[in-house]
Amino acid sequence: MKKTFARWAGMLLLALTLAPASASAAGYTQTKYPIVLVHGMLGWNSIGPYEYWFGIPGALRRDGAQVYVAQVSAANSTEVRGEQLLTYVKQVMAATGAKKVNLIGHSHGAPTARYVASVAPTLVASVTSVGGANKGVPTADIMRAAAAPGSYSETLLVSIVDGIAKTIAFLSGDRNAQMSAAALDSMTTLGAAKFNAAHPQGVPLTACGEGDYQVNGVYYFSWSGARSVTNLIDPVDGPLKLASLAFRGEKNDGLVGSCSSRLGRVIRDDYGMNHFDEINQVAGLVNLFETNPLTVYRQHANRLREMGL
Ligand code: CA
Repeated sequence: MKKTFARWAGMLLLALTLAPASASAAGYTQTKYPIVLVHGMLGWNSIGPYEYWFGIPGALRRDGAQVYVAQVSAANSTEVRGEQLLTYVKQVMAATGAKKVNLIGHSHGAPTARYVASVAPTLVASVTSVGGANKGVPTADIMRAAAAPGSYSETLLVSIVDGIAKTIAFLSGDRNAQMSAAALDSMTTLGAAKFNAAHPQGVPLTACGEGDYQVNGVYYFSWSGARSVTNLIDPVDGPLKLASLAFRGEKNDGLVGSCSSRLGRVIRDDYGMNHFDEINQVAGLVNLFETNPLTVYRQHANRLREMGL
């Protein structure tokens, strides 16, 4: 009896010693290849100390990941942004000596990352889409319909969005060209469908299924939120609630539909997060009753690590 108890107590002690270690041990996020984060439309790397990926690089680096934050045009087509990202990936590889990178793209950053994996698969270990606009967004369709090419309303819309994009670019030190009309076209359902026909890797063939888990040696993953309002003191939740009306009841994160977000292996498409919670915005104001976004990123880095990526 005593012996059994001693063995049981010993095992319990061992479990208690190992449990915290497995969740946060040094090396938990230490992927084989560097992680490159790719921002969405009207995004940036950092404006002064303020990160687009709020606290995420630090959370990943804390247990060993090498993290690089790309800066591509705040507003431009997927292909133009993709070429910019390809150049950046080569710079990261030259700086680190790494043979490949793991790309994580948010919103328009997801198709941007997919472009690089499509044209240069040997440079990419994995692509992860977070709230990715892989099949377009309805707000872009509505805006495109209201601002037809060549119309006065298009000129007005483009000048406003170009102005915002140029301001963001100026503040973040981005010297890339800003082309809002091209960005908008890439984000429409039609624009996304054209892009997917040329770069189909990992895109689900059904409306809301999973895509191939691995294509040309590149692993594909995705996750997204499915709520617009998650934190009452976050100033962007109200506008997101309004934007979510465009989905007419379809599951969405305020800006991107859950089905559109799906790519490769779907980790989840229904976190209690909105489009900005997915990057821990605004300033960490997220859903207190959902897994913290920083934890989701850390878990994913560990997933990549366990897969040898
Ligand atoms: Ca938020």
